[in-house]
Amino acid sequence: MPRFFKEFFDAAPFIEGDDAHHIIRSLRMRPGEHLTVCDTHGIDYHCTITDCSNDRVELKIDRTEKTQSEPSCFVSLFQCLPKGDKMDSVIKQSVELGVGEITPVLSTNCVSRPDEKQLSKKVERWQKIANEAAGQSGRGILPKVNAGVSLKQLSTELDRFDKAFFCYELGGAAITDALPEGINKIAIIVGPEGGFTANEAEMLELAGATVTTLGPRILRTETAPLAALTAIMLTTGNMK
Ligand code: SAM
Repeated sequence: MPRFFKEFFDAAPFIEGDDAHHIIRSLRMRPGEHLTVCDTHGIDYHCTITDCSNDRVELKIDRTEKTQSEPSCFVSLFQCLPKGDKMDSVIKQSVELGVGEITPVLSTNCVSRPDEKQLSKKVERWQKIANEAAGQSGRGILPKVNAGVSLKQLSTELDRFDKAFFCYELGGAAITDALPEGINKIAIIVGPEGGFTANEAEMLELAGATVTTLGPRILRTETAPLAALTAIMLTTGNMK
């Protein structure tokens, strides 16, 4: 079933613009056919097309339901900027795995060091990648890619989470042992290719993050967030 996103859809049950062109021109859909519109806040509207003009698709809402694909917990990924275009795949695959939002982090060992203007352009592009991945994976929200922060700023934000997993290559607690029942707001913090400095590790621990291991192997910076997300989704029953 073709799936589209439109905020406040129930107040205006029609689609226009690029999505309308895609429905009419590429998918060649016609009145009587069915599609789903998600309101980006976890509600799906299953609809029947009632009219197609050249830039607008009118829809009748047949059934409404809570998006089945949203996990029971909200996971925020704080990813230290990796080199090259690795962030693209981190964003794409973490959205498929159920991440709630992604914040790029600038830490000491980040080789990629864009200035504010360059970083905000990158964030714009990453948001498009996140939106596409949300559509492809049938998500009920469009996970936000936030503006970049420093590791210091990040350490001041941790008290808004029920649990913050600081993934440390030098070892720590296993996620499966450190995730009590009913935890909702979870943070994952992943370092760049060069890892964290001892001072950064100490700062994160003092800020209340749980030093966490992802096993005895050294994972790439683009592998670690996916491993951590998978462990959290499995442990919280969101992969069945
Ligand atoms: N420079 C580090 C070294 O050689 O030990 C490796 C850093 S690793 C490529 C990038 C990030 O992935 C780390 O900072 C950490 O956040 C995460 N990571 C990689 N392997 C991990 C593991 N076994 N346990 C926890 N986190 C890990």
